[in-house]
Amino acid sequence: MLIDTHAHLYLDRFAEDLDAVLKRAREADVQAIVLPAIDVPSIHKAFALCDRYEHVYAMAALHPSSVQEATPDDLEAVAVLCDDPRVVAVGESGLDYYWDRSFDERQQDVFRFHIRLAIAKGLPLILHIRDKRDRDEVHRDIVRILREEKEASDAPERLRGIFHCFTGPAWFAEAAEELGFLLGLGGVLTFKNSGLDAIVADLPLEQVVLETDAPYLAPEPHRGQRNESAYVRFVAERLAEVKEMPVEEVERVTTHNAEQLFGIEVNA
Ligand SMILES: [Zn+2]
Repeated sequence: MLIDTHAHLYLDRFAEDLDAVLKRAREADVQAIVLPAIDVPSIHKAFALCDRYEHVYAMAALHPSSVQEATPDDLEAVAVLCDDPRVVAVGESGLDYYWDRSFDERQQDVFRFHIRLAIAKGLPLILHIRDKRDRDEVHRDIVRILREEKEASDAPERLRGIFHCFTGPAWFAEAAEELGFLLGLGGVLTFKNSGLDAIVADLPLEQVVLETDAPYLAPEPHRGQRNESAYVRFVAERLAEVKEMPVEEVERVTTHNAEQLFGIEVNA
């Protein structure tokens, strides 16, 4: 049994065949799916899916790429929506230094807002962390800001979550562990020459959850196509190969990790 901890199934690219996508996920024994938010309308779209399908859960936050145009009302709406029982995490928040560097400070302010919100609501925090290849400025800022906020918090033990789409560097996995964060592994693990196998081979399975990031980053043998939740199985199989253990063990531990983190229970 698997859990896809990160899938944007409410996007238009699934509008035509969502029932079939969910059916294939169940057939692949993907028993729960968590839908990260991008902006306020996406949270409501995710709610509609939660109401329609069993074991589908929502998150609430503003994606770093949408904070530039976000208003104070949007932040207030996110905070209010966190009290909805369908919301199991604050996400996806984080920092994206890949595209536009003209609003780093705004991204960092909203990131801090999300950290405080997650602590206040007792929800896990799901982070998008992206930089240019071979540059780790964003990783250093993520760790610095999390440490600062943790230090300033009166409930630092409540800070936990996922570094979503983990692709390295190795030191960042150690920082995650120190900060109480899990690593979300997805399709990149199946890509040839990603270099991720070497890092992942040393990771304790207790620190890992699985994800697709659908419709993006489809794993082999579907690389380049639309990704969907059923394909999280390819990630599980590759992880089992890399760690030289039975896939059942990967399923058992990563599902348990996700259930604990999100406070959900899925009985197949
Ligand atoms: Zn995402």
